[in-house]
Amino acid sequence: MTLKTKIVCTIGPASWDPEVMRQMIENGMNVARVNGAFADTDELDMVRALVRNVSDSASLMVDVKGPEIRLNKFDEPIPLKVGETFVIGNTSRDKIYPANYKDVYTYVKPGQRIVIGDGDVEFVVEKIIDDQMYCTVQYGEVLKPGKAMNLPNCDYTTDILTEKDKENLQHAIKTGWEFVSASFVQDADSARKIKEFIGDAPMKLIAKIENQAGIDNIDEILEVVDGVMIARGGLGVELGLEKVPYIQKLLIDKCNRLGKIVITATQMLESMTTLPRPTRAEVNDVATAVFQGTDAVMLSAESSAGKFPIGAVAMLHSISTQSEDHVVPQIIQSDIPYAETADALTKAIAAMCMSNDKISKVVIVSKTGTTPRLLARHRIKQDIFAYVSNSFYRNTLMLTKGITQAFVFDGVTRDSDFSRDAAVSLLLEQGKRDNVLQSGETVLIVGKTPMSGEEYFPNIFEIVTVS
Ligand code: PEP
Repeated sequence: MTLKTKIVCTIGPASWDPEVMRQMIENGMNVARVNGAFADTDELDMVRALVRNVSDSASLMVDVKGPEIRLNKFDEPIPLKVGETFVIGNTSRDKIYPANYKDVYTYVKPGQRIVIGDGDVEFVVEKIIDDQMYCTVQYGEVLKPGKAMNLPNCDYTTDILTEKDKENLQHAIKTGWEFVSASFVQDADSARKIKEFIGDAPMKLIAKIENQAGIDNIDEILEVVDGVMIARGGLGVELGLEKVPYIQKLLIDKCNRLGKIVITATQMLESMTTLPRPTRAEVNDVATAVFQGTDAVMLSAESSAGKFPIGAVAMLHSISTQSEDHVVPQIIQSDIPYAETADALTKAIAAMCMSNDKISKVVIVSKTGTTPRLLARHRIKQDIFAYVSNSFYRNTLMLTKGITQAFVFDGVTRDSDFSRDAAVSLLLEQGKRDNVLQSGETVLIVGKTPMSGEEYFPNIFEIVTVS
């Protein structure tokens, strides 16, 4: 199942099943995300095993929550009436309380808005007595357990990683997870703290942009991170829903210009949590993200708690495939400060592909995946098959739009120098073995000789007819 746009699925009870997982992967899921709000290391291991049982090349993403507050997991949803008083407590002796930030009431003043989930419920704090917040229900009919609790403009913490986040992240690094997505990254400093925690591990950092500070500081954040998630749930709550479409466009554009990963998230097919088909507006929303140039689209409740996790993945796949046919290739002219040579080379390769219709595929060798990623940002029509140095880097390409498939290059272990012809034959042979090249087709081989050395910039560009 190949697709230019990638699919991230949040994994939860609805997808904790080997057969469901198999079908989600077969239908196009590229990355499994675990929301770290309640997950512990056992859950991370369980999801990793479910995914790896089906695929070595699907990627794993652990989500760390940092400053995000979550409600406790009370037993049953609670019916609400607008105008009534509702009490939010502070400890497990209370029915409702913030599960991870116990003392948040000390930062809250009367008049504070409390927005639950993606805006399903809204309270305003009227008074605080002892550690109890007495609120009025402003909006919403049902309060559901475990939902995110947003306090717009309340400065209650600066911790970007909680103790639980650190434990999960440490475990994910040790067990080879490819991505961490971090909630409420609002400046370069908080992004740097997570990078420092990751240390020398190759794990990639995705900053979730969820509030005004994250947008104000986006340029400095992008200098530190590998990509961003447009966390439209948080953004809608913090900024107002009507600001989200423009911010989505702005963030996708900035990431495309810099060759950074961008994921469009939240409520993409929300109605599919309960119904087998999405609305026309949802289909349009997914297609718009694809046209705008998102690398990936993401499912949240649809795949973690909904009734149709498999159908939702199939639907994302089908909307993306239909839309991709209408994406126009273009050389993105912005420069890539962190990879100048690869940037220049890939602009030239993209121009070559755009001016030669006979080229049906590009086979490109790379050490970590940066060069294929930069090639893919120009949205060329040709399929791109990336050959990289190890399985970790292969899997990180599963979040890059336009990489049709990625493989570990067999020739990578060849330390000694070998000729251009030998390098091209090696790639052609492996391409045929991997079933990506068929005889008779014309392909562009972007290779490297020798294969050893620190730098992996390609120095072979050959248009070849596969024998
Ligand atoms: C969001 O706010 O859009 C989001 C992705 O958050 P969460 O990780 O809580 O789903």
